[in-house]
Amino acid sequence: MQIPGLIDPVPVARDITPREDGRVDLIGLPRQRIAELFETAGLDAKAAKLRAKQVFHWLYHRGMTDIAKTMRPWLAERFVIGRPEIVLSQHSSDGTRKWLLKTADDHEYEMVFIPDADRGTLCVSSQVGCTLNCRFCHTGTMRLVRNLTPGEIVGQVMLARDALGEWPKAGQADLSALGDDLVDDDGGYSSDGRLLTNIVMMGMGEPLYNFDNVRDALKLVMDGDGLALSKRRITLSTSGVVPMMAKCGEEIGVNLAVSLHAVTKDIRDEIVPINRKYGLEELLQACADYPGASNARRITFEYVMLKDKNDSDEHARELVRLIKQYKLPAKVNLIPFNPWPGAIYECSSQERIRRFSEIVFEGGISAPVRTPRGRDIDAACGQLKTAAQKMSRAELDRLAEEKQAALG
Ligand code: SAH
Ligand code: SF4
Repeated sequence: MQIPGLIDPVPVARDITPREDGRVDLIGLPRQRIAELFETAGLDAKAAKLRAKQVFHWLYHRGMTDIAKTMRPWLAERFVIGRPEIVLSQHSSDGTRKWLLKTADDHEYEMVFIPDADRGTLCVSSQVGCTLNCRFCHTGTMRLVRNLTPGEIVGQVMLARDALGEWPKAGQADLSALGDDLVDDDGGYSSDGRLLTNIVMMGMGEPLYNFDNVRDALKLVMDGDGLALSKRRITLSTSGVVPMMAKCGEEIGVNLAVSLHAVTKDIRDEIVPINRKYGLEELLQACADYPGASNARRITFEYVMLKDKNDSDEHARELVRLIKQYKLPAKVNLIPFNPWPGAIYECSSQERIRRFSEIVFEGGISAPVRTPRGRDIDAACGQLKTAAQKMSRAELDRLAEEKQAALG
C-alpha cells in the first residue's frame, strides 16, 4: 500500500479547486502564489508583489471577508475570499463550542473551541475521516473521504476568529455573535486579550498523512504579517507516522504530541494499529530525535485511559521506564476515554486514573489528567464524527477489517 504523505516529495504547484464562476479563492495560498496570480491577471511583477503583500495583510491580519470592500473591481472579478460553510454550531454547557463545517464539494468536518481560564484552544481537523483505525476513536470508524486543503485548514482558524470577534477592526461589534458564556468571561483570557491563543491539530484525521497541506496551512497561521500565532502555541498530534516526524520538526517546527496509549507491543498493536507498521522502539527513537524538543518544549504523550486494557500500575511504571530509557523531554497527558455508541472499551475508574497519574509523577514526569470537555455535544477527544457518516456496526466491522488488512 502506498503511504499517504510519502507519495511525492517533489514540490509541485498546488492545484486550485476550480469554482464554477471561474474566480480563485485566495485563502490558503502563500503570498508568493498570490503575487503570481496577480501577475497573470495583468499587474507587472513589482506591483503584483506589493499588492500581494497588502492583500495578504487584509486577509490574515484584518480578517477581511469581502473582496469587493477593497473597491478594486479587477480583484473582485477574479478572486474571492472563502470561508468553510457552517452547517451547525453548538455550545456545550462548559463553554466548549463545536462547528460542523462543509467543504465546497459537500464533505463535512468539524472544529472545536475549548475556552480555559488562561487560554483558548482551537482543535483543528486535517482530514475528512481518517485512514487509521484506532480502536477507541470514533473518527477511526470513518472512511477517509479526503485530505483537507490548506485553505480548508487555515479556514477553520479564520472562521473561529470571525465567530469570536477577534479581528482588529471587527472587534467589539462582533461580540454579539458570541455566546453569553464567553462574553461574560473574557477577562480571564491571555494577556493580549485574545480568546483564541492556541491551536492543536487534534481534530479529525492524521495530520502527518496530509503533511504538505498541514504545513502550508500552519505556515499561514504562523506568518508574522498574518495570523501571527507563535509555533510554541501550536501542537500537532500524530498517532506515530514515524517517517514524517523529523520532517514535521524541521519544516513546521511546532510542538509535538504523540498518541502513545500503550507501552507494550501487543496492546499498542491492538488499539493503535499503525504500531504494526512503526513499532514502539522506532516511535520513541523518532521522539528522541525530534528537532526542537527540549526541556522547555517537551513532547506530549497522550495516553487514553481504557479500563483493564492499558491502565495498570505496571503499565504506568513501564511508561516511566521507557521515557527515561530514551531520555525524552516528555510530559504525559492522561485522557479519560470518551465513550461513543458502539465503542468496545470503558473508561478506567477515577481511582485507577489517579493512581496511574501518581506513579508517573513519582517517576519525575508530569502526568496531569485531562478534564473531558464538551462531552454533551460530542466534542470531546475521539468523538468528532459527523452525523452524515454514522454507520451500522456491521459496516464498521467490515471497514475495520479492510483497514487492518491494508496496514498488513
Ligand atoms: N490523528 C491524530 C490527531 C487526532 S486525535 C492522533 O491520533 O494523534 C486527538 C487525540 O484524541 C489522540 O490522542 C487520540 O488518540 C485521542 N482520542 C481518540 N479517541 C478518543 C476517545 N474516544 N477518548 C479519548 N481520547 C481519544
Ligand atoms: Fe485517526 Fe487519530 Fe482517531 Fe487514530 S486517534 S483513528 S489516527 S484520528
